[in-house]
Amino acid sequence: MYVTVLGSAAGGGFPQWNCTCRNCSHLRSVRTGEGARSQAQLVISCDGLQWLCLNASPDLRSQIISAPFLAPTRGTRATPITGVLLTSADVDSVMGLLHLREFQPLRVYATPSVRRILQEENRIFRVLERANPPVIWQDIFLDQWFVSSSSLSNGKAPLRFHTVALGGEYPDYVSEPLRRLLPPEEAVIGVVLAQANKQVFYAPSLSGRSAHWKDWARSSDVCLLDGTFWTDNELISLGVASKTAREIGHIPLSGSDGLLEQFGPVARGSGRRVLIHINNTNPILDEESPENREVRHAGWEIAYDGMEFEL
Ligand SMILES: [Zn+2]
Repeated sequence: MYVTVLGSAAGGGFPQWNCTCRNCSHLRSVRTGEGARSQAQLVISCDGLQWLCLNASPDLRSQIISAPFLAPTRGTRATPITGVLLTSADVDSVMGLLHLREFQPLRVYATPSVRRILQEENRIFRVLERANPPVIWQDIFLDQWFVSSSSLSNGKAPLRFHTVALGGEYPDYVSEPLRRLLPPEEAVIGVVLAQANKQVFYAPSLSGRSAHWKDWARSSDVCLLDGTFWTDNELISLGVASKTAREIGHIPLSGSDGLLEQFGPVARGSGRRVLIHINNTNPILDEESPENREVRHAGWEIAYDGMEFEL
């Protein structure tokens, strides 16, 4: 199983175009741009030939172009990307679907509620229907295993995935009448990806309102978890928002009941723990910071664009 991090930042990327926080200002002053991050995007494959996108980031077009293994290989319209698995209807998770509108048949996996939001409330996503054959929307249900259709004919063990409800909320743009109809548990999911006896867990948005993710994360060879904010009041203290990290669906890394404490110490020989979806305000992005040191001392890795895993 191959996993590549095409983007590791939260919404806005790093640096964010309109942000003057300490991290963004510093990165703009560094001429090499080293440490820049695009918005969170993973791709996964069981053979290195056919790839499944985990979410579709607003940066997806440039992320695909910068990854040679995702270049088209044959014919006039071709791509090694066979599908997209959505973990929420957040703008950061779905905007990149519009980059995939170039008459390309694909399969989009989403919970029935996320599919309804995109299909019924947002006419713009109908551009995906003009492909021939059109994009196939496949419902995925909670706490079930699915087999990725792209992995069935290549002779390798199939890529399977399992959905885990994470207790998040639907995005603000969803209308009230539709929101009332949708089961809250389908709003934000984590996904377990498995091939043979190897397992990866991906949860870029952990609300902390559900604890189901912990066993999946701890039992995986690699888990990539929500590293959005260091403190609960990170955006409030910068004066850019009025809501806490928890109120917008992300448990902070630090503090009592933060992600680091909730995950707890890990035995030697356990899987790799990686923080992803890192907001540009998060002090862990500064490699000289005490917060960065604390995270690494606790055994966590910090995702970067281009990070690869082979299992
Ligand atoms: Zn910033």
